Amino acid sequence: MKKIGILGSTGSIGTQTLEIVRAYSEDLQVTVLAAGTNVTLMEAQMREFKPEAVVMWSEEAASDLRIRTADLEIPVLSGMEGLLEISVWENMDVLVTALVGMIGIRPTIAAIQAGKDIALANKETLVTAGHIIMPLAKKHGVSILPVDSEHSAIFQSMQGEKRSQVQKILLTASGGPFRGRKLEELRTMQVEDALKHPNWSMGRKITIDSATLVNKGLEVIEAKWLFDVSLDQIQVVVHPQSIIHSMVEYVDGGIMAQLGAPDMKLPIQYALFYPDRRPLEGKRVDFYELGQMTFEKPDNETFKGLALAYEAARIGGSMPTVFNAANEKAVALFLDKKISFLQIADIIETCMSKHEVLGAPSVEEILAVEQQTYESVEALVRL
Ligand code: NDP
Repeated sequence: MKKIGILGSTGSIGTQTLEIVRAYSEDLQVTVLAAGTNVTLMEAQMREFKPEAVVMWSEEAASDLRIRTADLEIPVLSGMEGLLEISVWENMDVLVTALVGMIGIRPTIAAIQAGKDIALANKETLVTAGHIIMPLAKKHGVSILPVDSEHSAIFQSMQGEKRSQVQKILLTASGGPFRGRKLEELRTMQVEDALKHPNWSMGRKITIDSATLVNKGLEVIEAKWLFDVSLDQIQVVVHPQSIIHSMVEYVDGGIMAQLGAPDMKLPIQYALFYPDRRPLEGKRVDFYELGQMTFEKPDNETFKGLALAYEAARIGGSMPTVFNAANEKAVALFLDKKISFLQIADIIETCMSKHEVLGAPSVEEILAVEQQTYESVEALVRL
């Protein structure tokens, strides 16, 4: 029986992880769960999965949940203290990090130090603290198993191959809801337009990140850390059908790819059962119906998010933190309808241009840069 913890259990990845636990209840057991504020769903999850402890980020939500679940005798913790406590839970083998944003850094580090394997969805953590997390995982002998569909595809395409013989990674991108649009058209795009992803149903933040191509930029940096390749070895290929989830080219020109219908349950399940494959109900690719697959170059002129990510990664140090934190804040402002769609990339660019880079920042420095960047974005928007 594999014991699982989920940070972000009420979200898109979290609920799909629980669907897998439900389908394989003889092999998987949930021991700890954490969420932000969604008390109603957490209560339902507690009643169904009977975890040993749960966390709500806000103390207000935690108090409410304690009253609602008084009959269950499951401890309800709160805040960062609670997240850190369940991330090192003794009766847990693997922690699924499905929180949004840099809030995941400290719990992920704590879990690694306690020898827990990580099924990593929370890419922002690796983007900003990859230089700390990857060596730490190696030191503690823990596996970082990718949940992101592209990184899972790359990981699957590397099975049985030698890492030293990888020529390059071909990271596929759907292009998001605004693929093919030009700058003039993007000026008027609203939150509702940006939330309509053509192929994937995901949380709100990552859906906006897909529309700006920032998500692909975050994934480039994530791939660099996960697979220990240089930025020049990562090429983004727009593939609107989202059937090829990514590819790996080897030194002899051979290319291995992983294909499948777009369904996050496959990569989540692969991470939980690796190296086993288990049956998964759902849509299958029908090549007669599909007919063709197409490929394009990303439009870096219109969508600056990807180019800015490459720049942040090339500069390194604390710059990816600025890229990520400026984006997190800008996306939140866009979702609140306080800024326009195009301002997201402009804000990231301005914050990056003002930043004095720290080389190999510590966790404290990363969190301080995050805070300063949030403040810079607020000041910019007030101007
Ligand atoms: P969602 O917004 O759907 O879910 C986020 C989850 O995190 C919710 O359970 C939320 O709780 C919880 N949460 C938010 N803030 C806190 C906090 N401070 N403390 C504890 N819990 C918190 O996000 P997604 O599932 O879409 O994405 C999660 C991560 O996975 C992101 O890093 C994303 O980039 C990555 N990812 C997602 C994919 C997808 O298909 N969705 C694909 C690949 C990667 P509550 O609901 O109570 O607020």
